[in-house]
Amino acid sequence: MANFIDENFLLKNETAKRLFFGTAKGLPIIDYHCHLSPKAIAEDKPFEDIARMWLEGDHYKWRIMRANGTPERLCAGEGPWEEKFVAYTSALTKAAGNPLQQWSHLELQRIFGISEVLTPHNALKIREEANRVLATKRISPRSLLEQFNVNVICTTDDPIDDLHWHKAIADEQRAGSAFRTKVLPAFRPDKAMNTADIVAWNTYIDALGTSAGVEIGSYAALVEALSRRHAYFHAMGCRLSDHALLVPVFMPASESELDAIVRSARNGTALSAKEQAKLMTAMLSHMARLNAQKNWTMQLHIGALRNVNQSLYAAFGPDVGGDTISDAPIIEPLASFLGMLEAEGTLPKTILYTLDPTKHLALATLAGSFCGTKISSTGEAASPESDASSRPSRSEMGTVQWGVPGKVQLGAAWWFNDQKDGMERHMREYASVGLLGAWVGMLTDSRSFMSFPRHEYFRRLLCNAIGEWVEAGELPDDPLYTESVVRAICWENAASYFGML
Ligand SMILES: [Zn+2]
Repeated sequence: MANFIDENFLLKNETAKRLFFGTAKGLPIIDYHCHLSPKAIAEDKPFEDIARMWLEGDHYKWRIMRANGTPERLCAGEGPWEEKFVAYTSALTKAAGNPLQQWSHLELQRIFGISEVLTPHNALKIREEANRVLATKRISPRSLLEQFNVNVICTTDDPIDDLHWHKAIADEQRAGSAFRTKVLPAFRPDKAMNTADIVAWNTYIDALGTSAGVEIGSYAALVEALSRRHAYFHAMGCRLSDHALLVPVFMPASESELDAIVRSARNGTALSAKEQAKLMTAMLSHMARLNAQKNWTMQLHIGALRNVNQSLYAAFGPDVGGDTISDAPIIEPLASFLGMLEAEGTLPKTILYTLDPTKHLALATLAGSFCGTKISSTGEAASPESDASSRPSRSEMGTVQWGVPGKVQLGAAWWFNDQKDGMERHMREYASVGLLGAWVGMLTDSRSFMSFPRHEYFRRLLCNAIGEWVEAGELPDDPLYTESVVRAICWENAASYFGML
């Protein structure tokens, strides 16, 4: 029997151990999508309480607590931290197979050096011990980013954000700060595109107009405001946009139609479903074109059906654990959208995430249909629209014109899929219809500075999967097929794909 989370955790064969300890373990991290607070990094206040670090705002944990019958005052409510901590450990004892059970113990080991198994009986003693470690080691946002060798993080930011904290950190680094992690923004214009609540949309569009210095009364002004904020974010080092889509839509409309829609919306008239879809299609296309121009990557997070528990939403607002997986069809409108961009030569690097794991295979095949090498009328590969200078020329490579590896790709197993079974399935499916070695790999998507051991968790599973193929005689035991692929997925691909280093 293996020991619980020992050094060979998740590494079930010798090749896996060789790949993890020899290659993956020491590589830096590029966390290209997360929800960490740039303000917390700029201020760098030391943490004081593991209970707050674990349970403040962590809806993953609240979900298993609620499932354990924990009263709401100990989940999203205002109950005492001591009671919350004990209640969480009580849920944890029943969480066999749930990633929280392993993540929590991994965090205890890696951050606090505590290897004891958490139970409600020793919870308070472990909390005390962990808090002593926080104080004596002065553990803070920056110390955790340094401990886990995080080279780059991309936060998630609204276009109207002035990026004050990002600037403060960058200024400090330019002045010679010892803190070297690049903290870059990512552009998330969801509020500009979501017109379902016309009052909320108008309030937001007023703020967008102010921040961009544009009076938004027409469609042209609306996209001009977004373009200006995109340019500002670019100057601040941003290289990714991010978009949440419950269901992708594709409904092209003429400029005059779009203008009429925006004028009517700006007058406070609620939009029909068709009008909403037309405006969303146009704005997302505009974003894609801006991204292509600036060589950014567009991330589409598809299929999160949010706030299905209305009483929870009424009491605590969004992001409190009342979300679920949508099983609505997504592929056809998305295929039309990507196809249109490809045809007009404005398809940016794109990462497609879905919350519905049954769609991973379909989404991976869709991604694989767009490789970024345009074909001329004579059938020859023509030069792609971006980044041509960094690739080998035709004369160097014979007849092959290289594009961006993995230009459109399937994103990492997301949210409810970010667990052992989900990640293993995701990698197998990606590999079976796509090019696993061109993948940009793992991200935390987290709001917690303690989440970085999840990169280790992922790397162990990746090494184990490749190790299993090697040991079964299904993959050559040749470093070009093994070590190189592990290094690429854990580090090199993200480093070259996003262009942020
Ligand atoms: Zn996210």
